Amino acid sequence: MTGELKFKDKVVIVTGAGGGLGKIYALEFAARGAKVVVNDLGGSSTGEGASSKAADVVVNEIKSKGGVAVANYDSVEDGEKIVATAMNNFGRVDILINNAGILRDVSFGKMTDQDWDLVYRVHMKGAYKLTRAVWNHMRDNKFGRVVMTSSAAGLYGNFGQANYGAQKMALVGFANTLAQEGKARNVNVNTIAPVAASRLTESVMPPDLLQQLKPEYIVPLVLYLCHEDTQETGSVFEVGAGWVSKVRLQRSSGVYIKDITAEKIKENWAGIENFDKPQYPTSASDSVSGILSAVSSQPATS
Ligand code: NAD
Repeated sequence: MTGELKFKDKVVIVTGAGGGLGKIYALEFAARGAKVVVNDLGGSSTGEGASSKAADVVVNEIKSKGGVAVANYDSVEDGEKIVATAMNNFGRVDILINNAGILRDVSFGKMTDQDWDLVYRVHMKGAYKLTRAVWNHMRDNKFGRVVMTSSAAGLYGNFGQANYGAQKMALVGFANTLAQEGKARNVNVNTIAPVAASRLTESVMPPDLLQQLKPEYIVPLVLYLCHEDTQETGSVFEVGAGWVSKVRLQRSSGVYIKDITAEKIKENWAGIENFDKPQYPTSASDSVSGILSAVSSQPATS
């Protein structure tokens, strides 16, 4: 058993911390010594309305337990204002949890521009605005921990969630590049795809399943990824019900086809999708060099 992971005097921004997962993150970071900016717009699960109540309730709970927290009610679309709340109250930002989210589920044939734009603005643009506003500060401090919140709907697709799935996968691409750009300055960026009971899932999952999917089961991974001793970066994790798994991209070893044509693709299809000898590229240059070495070493199939 290792010692408790502490966050004494670390300044943490949790977006969407008025309920669901974000609330539990905020409470637990505060319980472990962090100063927390509890951000929440306080709107509906589909992105309508606003209220200061959600964030205030969480701040009051943290303070009643002797913790340190301040509320912020801005939309993540105004990420720089949320970061300003942290700077004005605590003078720094160490950890950013991009968690705020909404759903506008509808099959793609019925999706409106508003359904698309609202989901983009909260998930992707919001994460961009917050991260942009803390990025150089973290690099200058040679310390930063950022968590993006993706979803199985992004990693694998999900019926009725083209807007949400697109943004959730976009966050993975965003994190992959930031992890490379932040690594030398000890700014680590990881992505989680959680499954947990919240107002976003209570209508689509049965009650007995929701019982097993407590938000409390997501928090330990986020705490671990954000700790100063943790060097993990650029990774994606699926997490829920006490289960944690690391996700990576796999590709088949591929087929080199001399004088490639559509007809030759058809002839070689079984080889193209044969995963008997999988490869796991971890960077764009890894990807290209893997292709070039495969071309030079494989006999050409004509
Ligand atoms: P939730 O609805 O309980 O919490 C989301 C919070 O974000 C709410 O309190 C909401 O008020 C806040 N919010 C929404 N728009 C905002 C904005 N523009 N600015 C600031 N705050 C805003 O849902 P949750 O399940 O706790 O979701 C947390 C994150 O996890 C989301 O990004 C969600 O997409 C993701 N996620 C959740 C699950 C799950 O199973 N619960 C699965 C995959 C991904």
